[in-house]
Amino acid sequence: MSGQPITVAVAGAKGKMGQEVVKMLLADEALRFVVGIDSKLNGVDVGEVVGGKPLGVPFVNSLAEALQTYQPDVLVDFTTPHTAYQHTATAIEYGVRPVVGTTGFSPAQLAELAQRCRERQIGAVIAPNFAIGAVLCMKFAAIAAKYMPHVEIIELHHDQKLDAPSGTALKTAEMIAAARQPFKQGHAQESESIQGARGADYQGFRLHSVRLPGLVAHQEVLFGATGQTLSIRHDSLSRESFMPGVNLAIKAVLNLETLVYGLENLLD
Ligand code: NAP
Repeated sequence: MSGQPITVAVAGAKGKMGQEVVKMLLADEALRFVVGIDSKLNGVDVGEVVGGKPLGVPFVNSLAEALQTYQPDVLVDFTTPHTAYQHTATAIEYGVRPVVGTTGFSPAQLAELAQRCRERQIGAVIAPNFAIGAVLCMKFAAIAAKYMPHVEIIELHHDQKLDAPSGTALKTAEMIAAARQPFKQGHAQESESIQGARGADYQGFRLHSVRLPGLVAHQEVLFGATGQTLSIRHDSLSRESFMPGVNLAIKAVLNLETLVYGLENLLD
């Protein structure tokens, strides 16, 4: 495939993230956008929705039909949790490498998709956060948890987000849990007069999800120890912040033969 642009289909190309992906693909000569997948806009030129002028690239509403007709190298998916799981499985079946930013995959779904990749010897990338700063936030939090094991995670997103906690917060929680001895934080007799006041329990520490219009994607990891606190915070201020990570994953997935979960596993 050397010298030829990497051909890319985008599922959810009409969505907030999908539109940014389309703009990123159009700006990179090494990538060629060939088809958008949308459940409603069959046959419409993607350019009429993204950017306003025709691109000569259509929306197709069946993923299988789009993959058969356009035979892209890579499928980028930013849709909904249920759809993304189906799309990822279909792409693997058709030998098209998935790069998935949609969040909300369960551990069982990830394990099953990884198995399908192994069987087909095909690469895939699923990353709950494609922003480099968010990946660093997770890594720094895991380092801090070893020395300051009392921690809470607050994640903040726009109010149209479907899943809670965010995929990034869950991944951060996993990395923190792997770095500290498990124990239950807070007072042994603490109680909630309003259910949920203390957030969700993840292996003894708490996760809190804030949903408000105006927010994009933000996370703060708070550590407390005797006489001191540490805050590690990341803010995605626009959806462009995710695009260098998506671009990197599209190029990296061609050389993978397994499913990689998390952008940090594609970085040195
Ligand atoms: P959004 O604006 O609601 O876009 C989702 C798009 O998916 C919509 O255009 C929707 O079209 C489309 N869609 C839904 N079902 C479909 C189907 N069966 N076939 C084709 N298209 C379908 O949402 P968003 O803000 O872009 O977020 C999308 C996902 O990305 C979410 O899971 C979010 O958490 C995640 N995200 C990930 C990252 C990351 O770095 N990994 C960053 C930000 C967001 P209709 O409205 O026509 O159904």
